[in-house]
Amino acid sequence: MGKWEENVRRCVPYVAGEQPDRKNMIKLNTNECPYPPAPGVERARREMDTDSFRLYPNPDVKPLVEALAEYYHVKPSQVFVGVGSDDVISMAFMTFFNGTKPILFPDVTYSFYDVWADVYRIPYRTVPLDENWRIRPEDYRQENGGIIFPNPNAPTGVYEPLDKVEEIIRSNPDVVVMVDEAYIDFGGESALPLLEKYENLLVVQTFSKSRAMAGMRIGYCIGNEKLIGYLNDVRFSVNSYTMNRPAQILGVEAVKDDAYFKATTAKIIATRERVKGELKKLGFTFPDSKANFIFASHAAKPAKEIFQALRNADIFVRYWDKPRINNSLRITVGTDEEMDKLIEFLKNYLAE
Ligand code: PMP
Repeated sequence: MGKWEENVRRCVPYVAGEQPDRKNMIKLNTNECPYPPAPGVERARREMDTDSFRLYPNPDVKPLVEALAEYYHVKPSQVFVGVGSDDVISMAFMTFFNGTKPILFPDVTYSFYDVWADVYRIPYRTVPLDENWRIRPEDYRQENGGIIFPNPNAPTGVYEPLDKVEEIIRSNPDVVVMVDEAYIDFGGESALPLLEKYENLLVVQTFSKSRAMAGMRIGYCIGNEKLIGYLNDVRFSVNSYTMNRPAQILGVEAVKDDAYFKATTAKIIATRERVKGELKKLGFTFPDSKANFIFASHAAKPAKEIFQALRNADIFVRYWDKPRINNSLRITVGTDEEMDKLIEFLKNYLAE
């Protein structure tokens, strides 16, 4: 080993879901939206002035921040935009989880949280979900340096009602509580109204799921001005121009078309509810999901085997060989047609 390696920041990186590129594949493994972005996005893309690419983009991401502020009825100074919510959460970890006490998050949750904690050397403690994959707010009454949890949770899809979310925020006034709402638009109630009552709350959302823009990498968070100010100080200490020009322009178009957004999410919700019934008929069990995915296990067949069989048929779902979740598949809700093909495959496979 060279001496220089002693000074390397070592980490175990997050492993993102695979991005296969197979003809006619059914991709239900990374919770993308199966429908295209709002029509205005395509229009703006065609009209984009590529000569402007010579110039740096707006460092404050002003048009997009203003569009989001208007949409959510908050001040622009309460909105922070980043390169996907991964970037937003990573920056927020660096900014707000800077104490010596362990931060808390559920034991079964988005598997990037412990990776960020490790890379930034933030101590953490995981809090077990109960046997029904639910968060117990009272478990978050222990000493801590900050809290993060998704609502709905991933990969379970379980949504916690706002009174439970509020209980966690209320009982932790001395730390920042981040609610990761990547999947909130599929039937949950956002914690955003709680911002009026709690200055320690940060609500994180993304364009990757409900706004069909995973490829553009746009995420944002909303909090009180002071929190957002601190977050911007850290961001501008790392990189002044995080959001590229196309993302800034196209993101605004996605926010403008609320009718399309609502129609798309309603379609996904309807498909999800129908698929829940179909999966039940096939002997799958799952916690009730309010996200754009279903976290299903089968009584007779191990999840790992079903995952492989699906994969061989070019149907991609997500599987983790990890304690507590190694007999479940996370299945993204695709189009009705895609889900019919999935169900048809499972019907035949399970009858074998
Ligand atoms: N939070 C949760 C709970 C997620 O599942 C994801 C998607 N992997 C993200 C945040 C990050 O999504 P993005 O960076 O695409 O906004």
